[in-house]
Order: sequence, then structure tokens, then C-alpha cells
Amino acid sequence: MTVERIVSANQPENEQEEKIELTLRPADFDNYIGQERMKKALQLAIAAAKKRGEPIDHVLLYGPPGLGKTTMASVIANEMGAQIRVTSGPAIERAGDLASLLTNLQDGDILFIDEIHRLHRSIEEVLYAAMEDFKLDIMLGKGPSARSLRLDLPKFTIIGATTRTGALAAPLRDRFGLQQRLEFYTTLEVAQIIARAANILGVPIDKGAAEHLAARARLTPRIANRLLKRVRDYADVNGDGIVDTKTAEKAMIMMEVDELGLDPADRRMLETIIEHHRGGPVGVETIAALTGDERSTIEDFFEPYLMQIGLLERTPRGRKITDKAYTHLGKKSHKPPDQTKLV
Ligand code: ADP
Repeated sequence: MTVERIVSANQPENEQEEKIELTLRPADFDNYIGQERMKKALQLAIAAAKKRGEPIDHVLLYGPPGLGKTTMASVIANEMGAQIRVTSGPAIERAGDLASLLTNLQDGDILFIDEIHRLHRSIEEVLYAAMEDFKLDIMLGKGPSARSLRLDLPKFTIIGATTRTGALAAPLRDRFGLQQRLEFYTTLEVAQIIARAANILGVPIDKGAAEHLAARARLTPRIANRLLKRVRDYADVNGDGIVDTKTAEKAMIMMEVDELGLDPADRRMLETIIEHHRGGPVGVETIAALTGDERSTIEDFFEPYLMQIGLLERTPRGRKITDKAYTHLGKKSHKPPDQTKLV
């Protein structure tokens, strides 16, 4: 069983959360905070495509969950004035599913495929052929009487999102003319995202509280929005609904989220590596067993953040705890004593 963690970037689990996420989703470049490098590249590509009167080139967005890939796909659609259809790698089970998605598109439409790295290899092949020349080869019938049929497709754009580009077959990856990596946000940007979300949700919040939450949101907008919602609940129940700095502090203490955004499961994992594995290196499987998460969740989500803030490092023999992590947890380092001092 996986326990829901407030600091995880999993997608919303119920309809109400999903609705809130939709209302908080920025619709255009002006409201999409941060990711300046990516925005510049995409704005240029959109302007050029519009000038030529063509759809934008296929776009691959990659990076940890919750950083704004789906949001950016809908921003691109809005800015292009295009219709967007949304699906995901695991939802396309057969080549026929893909064929019906593609043949139902119209010129200029965008097909967003989330978790594109989870497409079956056989479907990947059909997809990249279609992306290349807007033709779809389908097989009719089976055995000796089978024949293939070539269909013309409308001029569409695929926007693929993935947490790992390495898992995409090279021919598919190469069909994306635009490949953009989403970076972790700065704490300042996260504070702006919180202020914006609070404004939309009508939550009175002060600057100090927004900054307090921003420091704990693991540089990730989805977590920032989730922390805001939880603190709003806390303020409604324990106070007058106003989220001031004191309220934010108290709520975070109650939720056991520390000043680096670590929750008890993170701390337990780091402590166990220190206590039982002398600080590492340990394999990712060991880490997964310690937190009870899937290996892919560790690799795609938890690790990138811990590495970004310098608590964990990747070595050829596995993951190692850094000095900063020892200090953060108030633990003594296992480093061997300085040999030069021994006689
Ligand atoms: P991903 O597809 O990378 O998992 P999403 O696009 O679903 O992430 O983003 C999660 C939520 O975070 C969105 O609903 C949106 O409210 C918020 N968000 C993401 N990026 C931004 C941004 N740049 N500015 C403001 N809010 C953002």
C-alpha cells in the first residue's frame, strides 16, 4: 500500500482536487510563472508557425512531475488557437486506439500524450511514422489475406510529456523538433505561484506565509498548490481563515514538513541510509524499500529534488548521503578519520 504523502507530486486523486487544479492552471504565457528559457523557445516557435500558417512542430516536454508540463501543453494550444485532445501512454493499449485518435483529429489540432515513455514499442513505431509524414499505415485482416492501407492524416502536433527522455526510443525522440526540459522553480517563483493561486481561490495570505510555504514546496508548483490548500483548511478550522505567517508555520509543524520540504518518510529514508548503510552508497531498490515507494517514483520524483538541494548524490556505485544531509538531520558523519594524522 502506498500512503499519500503531502509532499508527493502525484496527480490529484479525487474529482474535487482535479477541479481545483484546473482552475489554478495558467492559460497563457503571461500567467505561466518561471521556466523563462522554455517559454522563450516556445513563443518563438509559435510565432513562426503562425506566420507560416502551419501547426507548430511536435514538442517533447520532460522533467519531474508537477512542474507544469500538462499546463504548458494547454498554454501552447491556447496561444496557437488550437484544439487540444489529451491522452496518455498507458491509455493507448493497441495500435487501433492510436489510429482512432489520429484519424479523429483535424488540421492544426494538438494531441497531448502524457507519460509518453509508457507507450508500447509497437505503438511508438506507428506514432513516429505518423509524426513524420502525416500518414498512417494500418493492416487490415490477418494471415495471407492481410493487406495494408495508407491513410492521410490531418496536419497535427503531438505534445509528449515524460519524466524520463532516456526511456523513449531514439526514433520517436528524434521526431520531436522541439525538446524542452522543465527545471525546478526558484523559491521566489514558487512564492509567486502561491500568491497567484491564493488570489484565485480567495485565500487571504500574507507575504511571509507565502514565502514560508514556498520554501517547503520542493520547488514544485503542484506541491505548492497542495500545501496552500491544506493550510487554508488548517486556517479555517483553527482560526479565522486568514493564512498569516504564524498559521503557516503551525500548519507545517503539524504536517511534519520541515524547512527543506522533507516529510517523515524522507527523513526516515535518509536516516536509515546513515544508520544502516554508513551513508551509502546504496542502490535505488534499497531506497524504494525504505520509503515504500515504487522505484520509478524514487527515480523520477524524490531523487531529483534531493539531488537538486544537495542532500543526495549519485555515484557509480549508488546513492550517497551528502554532508549537508548529515547536518540537516543533526547526525555525525561516517567519514573515515583523516589518515594523514595517524602515525
Ligand atoms: P506536470 O504535467 O508536469 O505533472 P502540471 O502541468 O499538471 O504538471 O502542473 C501541476 C499544477 O501546477 C497545475 O495545475 C498548475 O496549477 C500548477 N502550475 C504548474 N506550472 C505552473 C506555472 N509555471 N505557473 C503557475 N502554476 C503552475
